[in-house]
Amino acid sequence: MRKRYDKHANSSAKSRARNMANSCGILGDGSKAVKIHHLVKAPENTPKSISFRESWDASRPVTVYKTPENLPDGTPCTAATVILRSKGCAWWWKSGCTFCGYFNDVRDDVSADDMFSQWDYAKKKTNQFEGCQMVKVYTSGTFFEDRENPPEWQEIVLKETAEMGLHLVVEAQAQMCTPEKIEWVAARHPGCTVAIGLEAYDDSVLRFHVNKGFTTKQWHRAVEMLRENDLRVKTYLLFKPPFMSEGEALKHTTSWLVDVAKYSDEVSVNPMNIQKNTIVDRLFRNKEYRTPWLWSLVEMIKRAHHEMEGVNCRIIVHPTAGGKIRGAHNCGSCDSEVVAAIERYSVSGDPEEFNHLECSCESHWRAELENDLNLPVTLGFGTFRRGNPTDLVRAP
Ligand code: SF4
Ligand SMILES: [Zn+2]
Repeated sequence: MRKRYDKHANSSAKSRARNMANSCGILGDGSKAVKIHHLVKAPENTPKSISFRESWDASRPVTVYKTPENLPDGTPCTAATVILRSKGCAWWWKSGCTFCGYFNDVRDDVSADDMFSQWDYAKKKTNQFEGCQMVKVYTSGTFFEDRENPPEWQEIVLKETAEMGLHLVVEAQAQMCTPEKIEWVAARHPGCTVAIGLEAYDDSVLRFHVNKGFTTKQWHRAVEMLRENDLRVKTYLLFKPPFMSEGEALKHTTSWLVDVAKYSDEVSVNPMNIQKNTIVDRLFRNKEYRTPWLWSLVEMIKRAHHEMEGVNCRIIVHPTAGGKIRGAHNCGSCDSEVVAAIERYSVSGDPEEFNHLECSCESHWRAELENDLNLPVTLGFGTFRRGNPTDLVRAP
């Protein structure tokens, strides 16, 4: 009897909650919440996504190109970037970051032979990295994670680049840095740079906005290991993770940048660019997310540069797809000039690069920041798209 009574009470409470939720709009419709993990994974295993990935030639890297860079001592140089078509990131196998579309570029069945032929192809294409003093070897995951990349291949890359006198940059997740592995890497390529995608120096943002898979504490531990082995530390931050307004992104990323600079040799701030089939892509297509303003990046650099006087850490910002609708952008007419100034700053480190930049859209951007920081609208006030309103209705 009691049981029955409870059951009824329970079901009427549930229906009241459902009605309340229905009337609350943004609070949801009372149905069970979906975990961020399921949202991240949803598009990965569709037949379209699988056949797209299986169409890649596993014996060729994703891309190989050269760019101007700076060596650790600040000397300008040419760097080659090799992006390999690997098995992808072990964190992605389990869950994955909300903004990361690298899974579009990888294949589950890449073999050790494929990795060796991709590396040979990169050397051949660049004529043994002729004219380069630096090489960045990116595997869409952790370079020295044995489940992702064969250890014998890692060893060859580390040794060959060291023998050629090239400064090597590889990427890693913080929790993949173990004392044994870092020591192993340092023994084969002393002094190389390990870049860790920290994205945000805030545990709630890491968990609820980025789904990063590690904490700031784990990042600190990784940094200590790298320092103990005399390796260089590069830290990536993400400008404007999902579910954050423009104003909040500027405020937080500036302070994260100043904080992590104390522990890093370089900090590279990556303004969000929308990669296919990610959570951010879905928000964007639903007009619920605008990629950052280029003005915000300029403002962040100016503020951080000022606050970091005396700190020996380089700030790098390369707006991927800068000026395009899926990358950081302004109004459309000033974009190329502002992107060029940001790129120049990343090499020169001179804030004077931003003198003389002006455009009427700056006041629009300022108004958006003011509103974001003063009015209680969680996701911000920004207009999500630019251009002709009729085109916007049709987009994307
Ligand atoms: S850890 Fe890096 S490679 Fe892996 S899902 Fe996150 S951003 Fe992508
Ligand atoms: Zn403009």
